[in-house]
Amino acid sequence: MTTLFISDLHLEPTRPAITALFLDFLQGRARRAEALYILGDLFEAWIGDDDDTELGGVVADALRALSDSGVPLFFIHGNRDFLLGPRFAAASGMQLLPETTVIELAGEPILLMHGDTLCTDDTEYQKFRARVRAPAWRAQTLALPLAQRRVLASQLRETSRQATQGKAAEITDVNPAAVDAALRAHGVRHLIHGHTHRPGLHEWTLDGRPARRTVLGDWFAQGSVLRHDADGWRLENLPLPDA
Ligand code: MN
Repeated sequence: MTTLFISDLHLEPTRPAITALFLDFLQGRARRAEALYILGDLFEAWIGDDDDTELGGVVADALRALSDSGVPLFFIHGNRDFLLGPRFAAASGMQLLPETTVIELAGEPILLMHGDTLCTDDTEYQKFRARVRAPAWRAQTLALPLAQRRVLASQLRETSRQATQGKAAEITDVNPAAVDAALRAHGVRHLIHGHTHRPGLHEWTLDGRPARRTVLGDWFAQGSVLRHDADGWRLENLPLPDA
């Protein structure tokens, strides 16, 4: 029984090889999984489920084929696709999960999140997040015409790109105290998240007991999948064809 976790694919029309790798993944190893968890930033940008660009439809159909084959699909929003809503979820057969979700795997409770809320040193970003995650901002934005939302999305991406460039690596990584607090608050010893694009396995001692944080990788130079099966945990790269 294999459970798969991915995040930070940042799918966009300008990177068709990554979309192809993802579709291949959905038709291949994901078919044999017990469940697939997508922990945010599946898309580079999402301006509403009514967006009729080709990529969204292609991905929804591929996800739907997987869920129709009997593999449960779960999704937690990222900072890029937080406007993804129930319509896309229904079309793709994904179940939308709360931004912090505890699952149990092989008897162990595990906390899942995108990871951006752990970057508490980035106060500028946290202020921005609070603004755009407010239900009123969401409702107002989704009420705008699609063309206006496209402009807004590209402005937000440009602002984010410039802001991230000017920040030290420690600022845009998770804050260790925020990680400890999240584990304690949910009574777990294992956290899985993405967002930072710094894949790895971190182990430390929290309140006298071993704690673990697994960071998923992004899908830029290759794909990245965390798998859990009878042999334990493995963070694997999926090579791009001919790369
Ligand atoms: Mn992110």
